[in-house]
Amino acid sequence: MKSIYSLTQEDLKDWMIAQGEKNYRADQIWQWLYRQHVGSFEEMTNIPKKILQPLSENFVFSPLKTEIVQRAQDKTTKFLFELHDHAMIETVLMYHHYGVSVCVTTQIGCNIGCKFCASGLIPKVRDLETGEIVAQIMFIQRYLDQHEPGTKVSHIVVMGIGEPFDNYENVMNFLRIVNSDKGLAIGARHITVSTSGLAPKIRQFAREGIQVNLAVSLHAPNNETRSSIMKINREYPIEELFAAIYEYIEITNRRVTFEYIMIDGVNDTPQHAKELVALLKPMLKLSYVNLIPYNPVLENSFERSSAENIAKFFDILMKNKVNCVVRKEHGTDIEAACGQLRSQYERKKREKGRPRTKEEIRQASNLRRQRKQVQQS
Ligand code: SAH
Ligand code: SF4
Repeated sequence: MKSIYSLTQEDLKDWMIAQGEKNYRADQIWQWLYRQHVGSFEEMTNIPKKILQPLSENFVFSPLKTEIVQRAQDKTTKFLFELHDHAMIETVLMYHHYGVSVCVTTQIGCNIGCKFCASGLIPKVRDLETGEIVAQIMFIQRYLDQHEPGTKVSHIVVMGIGEPFDNYENVMNFLRIVNSDKGLAIGARHITVSTSGLAPKIRQFAREGIQVNLAVSLHAPNNETRSSIMKINREYPIEELFAAIYEYIEITNRRVTFEYIMIDGVNDTPQHAKELVALLKPMLKLSYVNLIPYNPVLENSFERSSAENIAKFFDILMKNKVNCVVRKEHGTDIEAACGQLRSQYERKKREKGRPRTKEEIRQASNLRRQRKQVQQS
């Protein structure tokens, strides 16, 4: 059964009309969901039972069950959720000087299969429904209402597990729901969708008429290096990807963010930096590079670039007027790289009975300590 969070405002209106009810009831329910952040149908006190009854028979409220909550020293908080089919997803809450952001998951597993990514090792099981993505935000908003009254989720990054453009319609509905000015009203400019570079979908996204930010996971400035770590580059090589990005910029007149993870000895040499400069030269004012120190995962042998190599790379970009920052890390003490908490959890389930390494024992005790802290707070 679908979640009530799957419905856009229009869907909810259509549903009311199909029930022979008035339009304004949909607005009232929308307010309960996204302004009052209620956690059940019963809390919608001004809605008559004759509406609530069929509503609760046709839709589940929240499709998420919390499994683990981990809080890091910098307050970054990870939530591991179980879905109706026992699949696990993770969502991250982060604190910044400009507000509070949530990183949402869009798929169970991911078919893009980037070599460096813990999520990409698990092939896609299914797409998340719209309501399962919206519910991640609403669960965390309720968590904030309870623990830090007055704090609102102000920013969203669609950068959790999954390729958002491989679940296009659900992600678009999600964006419309959280952006709706009668509901959460999270500004489109405060929302970023990250793609591994599905060129045709970038072209489609350009035509949506929504002011949401686009981030592209570039990670290499030439086809050889990019194809060696991202097999999607064989389908949409850099020339095709950039043709789609230029079209996006032309239609939307918006800047594009490029994500570039720094992996030791793979994509982090001065030569790579110079190639990146050449690639971005025609769009200096309309692009922004996020250099991301690679977060090593247990599943592969890639290492993070040294601080010295990151600094050199950064300098070359800056000297050539490429807008660029080295991304601040969040929650390094709680496995904050996307997909890590989930893959750690799944591994534990698979490997029950195997003697644990010292590192795993340390992680388990951290986990217990953090869970206790959350329970006490
Ligand atoms: N699938 C989309 C969005 C989810 S991944 C995409 O690939 O863009 C979000 C970002 O995290 C991507 O830029 C991805 O390349 C990066 N990433 C994946 N694994 C990482 C790791 N271990 N360390 C740092 N960044 C990682
Ligand atoms: Fe999928 Fe993104 Fe991970 Fe690549 S980096 S495997 S696209 S989640």
